[in-house]
Amino acid sequence: MAEPLYPLLHLSRHRLGTDGVGVTTLVAGAGCPLRCRWCINARLLREAPAEFISAEELLNRVKIDDLYYRATGGGITFGGGEALLHAEFIRRFRELCPRDWRIAVETSLAVSPEALSAALGAVDEYIVDCKDLNPLRYTSYTGGDAALMENNLRRLLSSVNPDQVLVRVPVIPEYNTPKDQVENADLLQKMGVKRLDLFSYIIPKNSLQISAEHV
Ligand code: SF4
Repeated sequence: MAEPLYPLLHLSRHRLGTDGVGVTTLVAGAGCPLRCRWCINARLLREAPAEFISAEELLNRVKIDDLYYRATGGGITFGGGEALLHAEFIRRFRELCPRDWRIAVETSLAVSPEALSAALGAVDEYIVDCKDLNPLRYTSYTGGDAALMENNLRRLLSSVNPDQVLVRVPVIPEYNTPKDQVENADLLQKMGVKRLDLFSYIIPKNSLQISAEHV
């Protein structure tokens, strides 16, 4: 089987408390099946990746921060874009990197069940952006299918320790309300989600760039 390659957009080192436990390096990759209205990475996702790299090449670039990862319980966070589009690459990287590095993925779970299965066992933490559980609001905001996300989330919760799953639940201006957010959080807890991150998108005027305000 051919060596999987990763469509690298950029590396961001020395991140703390933003995308996983400890000090992390965010490895952003191209490609996403969704088209969210307020995508913070829309410009990046439209661009071609800077390069395609092998798992070995990536390891050579990120191992400079080995001591930071080990001292803080951190490691590598795959994001983008949709990390689970590159599940085979992540499996390969997991085989090569030190066992005590923490591997996290940022995912919408809008991927095939096969892609999710390929990631199981290789990932320590799943940071899931569920957008909204209401099918109409979900499709209106993302262009995707809420049932795919929800089915994958149920499979994930039954396949790993729920402590490994953090679900981000946003208030999305023009698409849902704080009341919807509370109802989404309630539904997620009933599904077995233990770790929730409730926050609001902040949309600056005349900009597609968003930030997050946590509650
Ligand atoms: S899932 Fe994330 S990367 Fe993909 S379109 Fe939505 S906000 Fe952008």
